Amino acid sequence: MVSVAAHTSASRNDVTGEAGRRRTFAVISHPDAGKSTLTEALALHAAAITSAGAVHGKGDRRGVTSDWMDMEQARGISITSAALRIDYDDRVLNLLDTPGHADFSEDTYRVLAAVDCAVMLLDSAKGLEPQTLKLFDVARNRNIPVITFVNKWDRPGREPLELLDEIEQRIGLRPTPLNWPVGIAGDFRGLIDRTRDNTYTRLHRTPGGATRALEQTLDHAAAAELEGPAWHQATEELDLLDEIGADFDEASFLAGRSSPVLFGAALPNFGVSHLLRTLIDLAPAPSARTDTTGAPRPVEAPFAGFVFKMQANMDKQHRDRMAFVRVCSGRFDRGMVLTHAATGRPFATKYTQAVFGSERHTVDTAYPGDVIALVNAQALRVGDTLYDGPKVEFPPIPSFAPEHFAVARALDSGRYKQFRRGIAQLDSEGVVQVLVSDVRGEQAPVLAAVGPLQFDVVRHRMEHEFRAPVELAHLDYGVARRTDPDSAPVLHGLSGAEVLTRRSDNALLVLVHNKWRLKVIQRDHPTLLMEPLLAGG
Ligand code: GDP
Repeated sequence: MVSVAAHTSASRNDVTGEAGRRRTFAVISHPDAGKSTLTEALALHAAAITSAGAVHGKGDRRGVTSDWMDMEQARGISITSAALRIDYDDRVLNLLDTPGHADFSEDTYRVLAAVDCAVMLLDSAKGLEPQTLKLFDVARNRNIPVITFVNKWDRPGREPLELLDEIEQRIGLRPTPLNWPVGIAGDFRGLIDRTRDNTYTRLHRTPGGATRALEQTLDHAAAAELEGPAWHQATEELDLLDEIGADFDEASFLAGRSSPVLFGAALPNFGVSHLLRTLIDLAPAPSARTDTTGAPRPVEAPFAGFVFKMQANMDKQHRDRMAFVRVCSGRFDRGMVLTHAATGRPFATKYTQAVFGSERHTVDTAYPGDVIALVNAQALRVGDTLYDGPKVEFPPIPSFAPEHFAVARALDSGRYKQFRRGIAQLDSEGVVQVLVSDVRGEQAPVLAAVGPLQFDVVRHRMEHEFRAPVELAHLDYGVARRTDPDSAPVLHGLSGAEVLTRRSDNALLVLVHNKWRLKVIQRDHPTLLMEPLLAGG
């Protein structure tokens, strides 16, 4: 007979081993840097999907990035996040999709709360772009290790040393190149692998990039002869890298101070396999996550996870709400009855899905690092913890400070009930923050967003999902700060300022026109509390 203790220790080993096989990461990039192409190429290399076109396929609009809303299709952008699982070399890579549009940085923020590593994707001709910088800040605030992939090396671009310099100077991340390109951007010949005794792999383009690029390993003498001046330039640059000691350093990488850099081109599949290997060899596996008491919860503890994303109506056939949960500890078995930390209520998980592209698969078990999707999750909110056994709760996911504000009103007053329900729903999903005040009244809540596109989502969903079309009147505020009950009445009386209560947490927020007005108020009333809202940490 197997004793209970022996059984428990066996399942702990199982969880530790499974967690160790996981790599959970996201790609942070500026739109057009090649995130979709890279996702496709990674999946292709891992042979998770048989042809590159099937993964994303901007052409036929079937893909990983689930196009669940008409509006999303019309705009051709990905608003919602999904997770892609890639099985490779006895490892499980969970790639969490981040919306590329600048307006959805808040969503992205939440995704970055659920990953253990990020791939910073740069366009070789553009280097660091505004959205890259913004997302990098988020990654840095969360101490996420960052691997850098310099993409589109097959096209004319900048000098590799110049790009490294930019990374170091502008974001203070020490670049440690793992490979080095032979041939300038636009005349890409191959890659020297600094991690494998400078092995040189010459690359042969394959038409359309639909199949794996042909790679040929050459010894240095043959490479020198074949590549001529390009080879000599590359080896000189390598000597320079050796001199300045730009070698991979695990401790500073894990601490978010240095970043391994890879050069490549996702479209023709150059250098993508090296990125896969790097994720497996260097990216950290899931580890203990700190709970609200400050105690680290080890991966082998009983099941616990948190909601990092809520989504409704992913599939027109299933009009439901789905909560995406990142598993932090323990083994998840479908059918488990978990506890919802915020309410103490039980949460049944009979209908659980793993998310793979736009398809739904039933998941029976999941381990730390995995993402599970819980359906009928009306009671859950972004940031909520679910657990098994003794209570545990993870800290809330900090949100960006909103910069856009609008008053919402039901266009049809006869549909006020639906209006109220819809607004509450969008609030709980974190689509927008909802602010209320006695002055404005319940019927005219103020919606706060990080980017104005969030308002389009509100309009669309209120009309199509809740059948309560809304009118949104833009407010001339651009800054929100946290205040307290003592300061609130004074602030509310000032011109160009208004105090409201954030419904989700009852925080008192003061809205002001712009940061100049804020400065003036702060100068004239130095004792009033006007605390910055969390921006990334
Ligand atoms: P996303 O907006 O970051 O998802 O970018 P996409 O993956 O849609 O890529 C934007 C454009 O860049 C598309 O036209 C891609 O075909 C192109 N692209 C992506 N990677 C490469 C690359 O390595 N080389 C070249 N030449 N084009 C690329």
